[in-house]
Amino acid sequence: MTTATAPATAPAATQYPNTQLYIDGQWCDAADGRTLGVFNPATGQEIGRLAHAGRADMDRALAAAQKGFETWRNVPAIERAAIMRRAAQLLRERADSAAREMTLEQGKPLAEAKGEILAGVDVIEWMAEEGRRVYGRIVPPRNLAVSATVSKHPVGPVAAFTPWNFPVNQIVRKLSAALATGNSIIVKAPEETPASPAALIRAFADAGVPAGVVQLLYGNPAEISAYLIPHPIIRKITFTGSTPVGKQLASLAGLHMKRATMELGGHAPVIVCEDADVDLAIKAAGAAKFRNAGQVCISPTRFLVAKSIADEFVKKFAAHAQKLAVGDGLLDTTRMGPLANDRRLAAMQSLTEDAVRRGATLAAGGQRIGDVGNFFAPTVLSEVPLDAQVFNEEPFGPMAAVRSFERLEDAIAEANRLPFGLAGYAFTGSLKSAHQLTQRLEVGMLWVNQPAMAWPEMPFGGVKDSGYGSEGGPEALEAYLNTKSVSILN
Ligand code: NAD
Repeated sequence: MTTATAPATAPAATQYPNTQLYIDGQWCDAADGRTLGVFNPATGQEIGRLAHAGRADMDRALAAAQKGFETWRNVPAIERAAIMRRAAQLLRERADSAAREMTLEQGKPLAEAKGEILAGVDVIEWMAEEGRRVYGRIVPPRNLAVSATVSKHPVGPVAAFTPWNFPVNQIVRKLSAALATGNSIIVKAPEETPASPAALIRAFADAGVPAGVVQLLYGNPAEISAYLIPHPIIRKITFTGSTPVGKQLASLAGLHMKRATMELGGHAPVIVCEDADVDLAIKAAGAAKFRNAGQVCISPTRFLVAKSIADEFVKKFAAHAQKLAVGDGLLDTTRMGPLANDRRLAAMQSLTEDAVRRGATLAAGGQRIGDVGNFFAPTVLSEVPLDAQVFNEEPFGPMAAVRSFERLEDAIAEANRLPFGLAGYAFTGSLKSAHQLTQRLEVGMLWVNQPAMAWPEMPFGGVKDSGYGSEGGPEALEAYLNTKSVSILN
């Protein structure tokens, strides 16, 4: 088990900007001057303030989005793509400073933060080009005097709600797909991590996106969603976050007949078969598990390991967890930063206690590190009973829960037991098992013998309670388009 020692801390005080709203092409404070504090999860200290939008700001954002939509939908796709590529280039040039801001506000190691920004650049560039390939089709008519065509049209102003775990990545997929297809957007970005999203929006503003095409708001999430979703100007909703909130927002969208994409929670099974390369599984699943301190919707969480190799797996996985250097994300030596907020810290403590009380064995971690900042030791629990909370609720933290299985059939049944269906992982040397898992696992994404690869050209999304719609591949753009069927009698 890990001994809790004080985490490594960075030298005090690095620059962090205050964050404003962006409405109708202008950076501005809230109309009523309200602000909120931003805190560094590694130190607990306030590092900056952000503007808190009220009703007047939302009304301005809505009017701007309506105007921006009329402008942007009439810009040819090739010109939209050129502006988006310019935004990507600006973001690439600013990656170091944006990454530093992200680490200060969210906690993840600097290298991960920079990786997230550069992955965002990749998404913008891919979606910009894909927007040039939004083709309709010509249908052979039943009456030769008729021309029958199918065309695609932007859905209209979008309201996007995004969380704090990937401050840039969660926005960039929505923003890029919306803009590539000719829509305007209001982004309600995460209040806890506001500066790196603002750096993303600034790249688009500086690249020449016309006023009104992109708006950025922060404030009270429930207040903003309750106002924007039913508003007649908004035509499409997209949300990433927890399943309970997603269900609320999807219901509201349904009530007002708005298109919606929901990227919600998961509880990813990792099936390690008897014929797996255990060292590969430790390396790949270990990297995926502790990235971003486990605060990842596709994080591997329920480890189902063939009985014959379970002891070896737990021993090696615990050793991997114990070796990870936990500390301030600004330090080069840090491999895992603090949890982004104290809600996750409390959740990790309570999930560990519950599992141990029900009979699980603590193989690594299981406790807070130090008493400053939200540091929690990388945790491995083995022989976790099925009724332990951690095997039923998304842990969303640096916690791996392991159980063994006798037959692949049983592992598949356990993987499909929960209402979630986002990501799944498997390690096997057998094509037959890989095929069976592909056919039978109820997930939106499956990675076999590797960690997650969220490439922009691959669909990204879940099934069941993990939501609907996709944020990658051509499907991501389709979600921002209406289809029109036209028949003209010549
Ligand atoms: P939460 O459920 O309160 O919030 C999750 C996100 O939804 C936050 O970004 C929040 O601002 C937003 N939100 C909450 N209520 C909203 C509303 N009425 N309208 C619009 N947005 C709203 O919980 P939390 O403590 O921030 O995060 C904890 C849980 O959320 C995690 O356990 C995890 O399951 C889930 N989560 C998932 C993702 C993801 O990538 N799918 C990201 C962050 C959080």
